[in-house]
Amino acid sequence: MSNTIKAIVINKEDGKYSANLTTISSSDLPSENVSIDVLYSTLNYKDGLAITGKGPVVRQFPMVPGIDLVGQVTASDSDDFAPGDKVILNGFGVGEKYWGGLAQKAKLKSDWLIALPAKLSAKQAMQIGTAGYTAMLSVIALEKQGITPDSGEVLVTGANGGVGSFAIYLLNQLGYKVVAATGRLEQSDYLKAIGASDVIDRNELSAAGKPLQKERFAAAIDSVGSHTLANVCASLQYGGVVTACGLAQGMDFPASVAPFILRGIKLIGIDSVMRPKADRIEAWDRLATLVESDYLDKISAEITLEQVIENAELLMDGKIRGRVVVNCQA
Ligand code: NDP
Repeated sequence: MSNTIKAIVINKEDGKYSANLTTISSSDLPSENVSIDVLYSTLNYKDGLAITGKGPVVRQFPMVPGIDLVGQVTASDSDDFAPGDKVILNGFGVGEKYWGGLAQKAKLKSDWLIALPAKLSAKQAMQIGTAGYTAMLSVIALEKQGITPDSGEVLVTGANGGVGSFAIYLLNQLGYKVVAATGRLEQSDYLKAIGASDVIDRNELSAAGKPLQKERFAAAIDSVGSHTLANVCASLQYGGVVTACGLAQGMDFPASVAPFILRGIKLIGIDSVMRPKADRIEAWDRLATLVESDYLDKISAEITLEQVIENAELLMDGKIRGRVVVNCQA
């Protein structure tokens, strides 16, 4: 077996940031306890920031980016995984602090891995990726707060984004009536095709608004933050729930306590990166039963490691819609 592997490697030397497709030796891989062949990885926004150097994602150099992956175990000293097992990894600082998925092989800690659910193929798991997994965690959080399809309309912000579009799809699969907020109204037909029953202009939510507004939504999934999240809180019905996972508009949260103390609303934070294993398994098992392969094929495109760097640039320029799956063995 060849001892060399292809990998995207990010470096910073003399202040100069670079990302290249390179050939490295398998012995260069870190010494974690599970060795895998990476079958598929993806390009997330965070990977785009890491590869282009447009955001301070990479915390150690040299770095192999790729925050999520599906792989097949080739060697393991963990009782949890044996050679031949297929595993999923999301987060845990992989692709930021530890070498990640945009390579033909990886070595990872067994604590970071979960088994690929039997109902999903390796490619399907990465068509879902961190975006779908985060959307699922958000939906589960609403359910755990007692939100059901009978509760009323659920708003999804950042609707055309990875998390937003998966949230719309999953909520619709579960029977919820979904309202999508987007800056790309020309994509309304697409949003309706994946499950939105109504589409609103994100500008209605993006500027400073009144602390209490018309009680419209039973719940919301927000990946945008800033004024949008504040306005979402102000528009929730009495006892409503909103999950917050992202900061596409901004990291600030210029809100008032009014909807919390007068309408008893709840704001639930969603972190996918350090999420305990049991929650990961629950989310991936739910995804395996809810997501249809037709949908996944419609929303994703497959590329090879050779095409990663140019696609990372396109992603950063907002020129990609849907998920980019990287076939790491092609
Ligand atoms: P995308 O870039 O795919 O989507 C973000 C969407 O937000 C865009 O498509 C756009 O939707 C909307 N948007 C962009 N800019 C603005 C703006 N200025 N004001 C309002 N809306 C805006 O990202 P993802 O869906 O992958 O991720 C969304 C967020 O969630 C990111 O901040 C990401 O870092 C975070 N995230 C967090 C995770 C966690 O563990 N907490 C995990 C995964 C992601 P439209 O065009 O429809 O308006």
